[in-house]
Amino acid sequence: MKNRKIITIVLYVAILLVAFSWILGLFGGKVNEIPYSQVMTLFRQNQVKSFVVQGDVIVLKLHTPYEGKNEVSALLADPEGFRQDMQPTLEEQAKTGVLESYDFIAGKELSPYDFILPIILAGLAILLVWVLVVGRANQNNPMANFGRARTMLGQAKGKKITFDDVAGVDEEKTELQEVVDFLRNPKKFTDMGAKIPHGILLAGAPGTGKTLLAKAVAGEAGVQFLSISGSDFMEMYVGVGASRVRDLFDQAKKIAPAIIFIDEIDAVGRKRGSGMGGGHDEREQTLNQLLVEMDGFAKTDGVIVLAATNRPDILDPALLRPGRFDRQIHVSAPDAKGREEILKVHAKDKRLDASVSLKTVALATAGFTGADLSNLLNEAAIKAVREDRPVLTMDDLNEAMMKIMAGPEKRSRVRLQKDLKITAVHEAGHAVAMYSLPTHDPVHQISIIPRGYALGLTWTTPKEDSNHLTRNEMYERIVGLLGGRAAEELFLKDISTGASNDIDRASKLARDMVARYGMCENLGTISYTGGDELFIGRDYEKVKGYSEKIAGTIDDEVKVLMDKAYDHCKQILTRDAEKMKQIVSFLLENETMTGQQFADCMAGKEIGQAEKSTLFDSVKTEE
Ligand code: ADP
Ligand code: ZN
Repeated sequence: MKNRKIITIVLYVAILLVAFSWILGLFGGKVNEIPYSQVMTLFRQNQVKSFVVQGDVIVLKLHTPYEGKNEVSALLADPEGFRQDMQPTLEEQAKTGVLESYDFIAGKELSPYDFILPIILAGLAILLVWVLVVGRANQNNPMANFGRARTMLGQAKGKKITFDDVAGVDEEKTELQEVVDFLRNPKKFTDMGAKIPHGILLAGAPGTGKTLLAKAVAGEAGVQFLSISGSDFMEMYVGVGASRVRDLFDQAKKIAPAIIFIDEIDAVGRKRGSGMGGGHDEREQTLNQLLVEMDGFAKTDGVIVLAATNRPDILDPALLRPGRFDRQIHVSAPDAKGREEILKVHAKDKRLDASVSLKTVALATAGFTGADLSNLLNEAAIKAVREDRPVLTMDDLNEAMMKIMAGPEKRSRVRLQKDLKITAVHEAGHAVAMYSLPTHDPVHQISIIPRGYALGLTWTTPKEDSNHLTRNEMYERIVGLLGGRAAEELFLKDISTGASNDIDRASKLARDMVARYGMCENLGTISYTGGDELFIGRDYEKVKGYSEKIAGTIDDEVKVLMDKAYDHCKQILTRDAEKMKQIVSFLLENETMTGQQFADCMAGKEIGQAEKSTLFDSVKTEE
């Protein structure tokens, strides 16, 4: 062990010395320097094996020695002009394999001889220390792979993923079937002169199965799957992203037929020139390289690029032009039937109790994505295993669902009596307000046991999957959200911080009603959601597409709406003050109140014993 360490250190020092002498030779100037005209001749004679341009110096490696030297350098009068003039030749020679690699390193205007040497020496010293310290720590030295794409070769290990593993997205699968057919038998398509897209964009929220679909396409077609995330292209160093893109496509062509999957393509692909401040060169260069590669590969290469994003709207239009990502497939969150199918897929390797109805679970999980559903079954299974039960029950699923929606129960958290009282009043306020709002989802359970970040919770069960919200529904939701705060004000004569999340959500709803959905008479049916998005620093911000005057009116209207909702809420709670008190004392005594108990109380009946209830109770299963 000790010996090996010494050997590696000696090795590093030796490499360093060689590098030093190479750089001294390079920047010491005149070594092996040849006239520019000779450079052109060497290119013409297909003699150049590789080259690097740094500033106005070009260093060439040759296939056969020139005047006895394998490596020569020359000065370029106009490096940028050289680059532009040579581009076609370079691509041509790179394709035929004459030119193995080349690089343009961003250069300085000043002569490099004066100061680059000390910088490089210092850099190498730091590098040495880094390699010894960091490189040792993680065995596979990251430096070795610097400009290379950190791709993952998908099909190599693990089981093959096919369309059967992806459920509830039948239309998406049909669209992708064409790609599968092409990859299986490209000749059939090219013989017919059929045009197959180079790139397909999968657009959809996180967890809807975009990655899974891409993998399934590769699995169905039996081709290699190369995946990379858009953010992997982004590095601090200019030029690294672009070289990673190049490397990615080179790898793909080598192992073709293949699928390249670029996750989060928006990280590199957002609109160019839509930013403030510097630091964009790197991203633009990377994006440009991506465009070049997309244009550059031929149909016959057998490579298809799939990319995923949840923000197709911020992508640079150049990416979506014909020959690039000219086809978009929208992957949406599953509907009830889709959810049931996804649950079935993930339940395959789990043992379910006979009482478990996946259909009921599917109906109760409106808004869950495929990832959420897979997580749901997994959490339930973990709970069953922990409690040493061989099968998974509906109760496990209920607890898993509550955990996913609101975080785990935190019974052990220390709670002061005062806090419990505030929480009880707050939650009772939500529940009573919701009860009196005709369009509101029914209350399923009220609890003052902390869960996740919340101190207490009032659960409602959505009546059905609905894609539309009416103005009345939105308004009543706001009233329900304000129930907690209004109850605190009315019954505790003081207000707490516990309502901050409610207020955020209510305000957002109100603002959407006014400025987004045109639901306010004074502003008319106009959407004031703003114009283009602007890149500021690391994030996006909407640019206002309207005047300051309108902005003022929007703020006023939001306030009017919120005030109206708050007053409405206080009216309800004042009217039902008696009920409020009963519910608060029940909660302080029992910690939770079921939907049935709550309904009994509101109807003026005796509050019965709690029957075990789950979030699935109020699901209508129409057979
Ligand atoms: P995305 O790429 O859209 O963020 P993923 O493909 O990474 O989503 O999905 C994450 C996980 O969720 C998958 O590995 C899979 O277990 C599950 N999943 C998502 N959608 C589906 C689906 N339609 N069918 C089956 N499982 C799914
Ligand atoms: Zn609340």
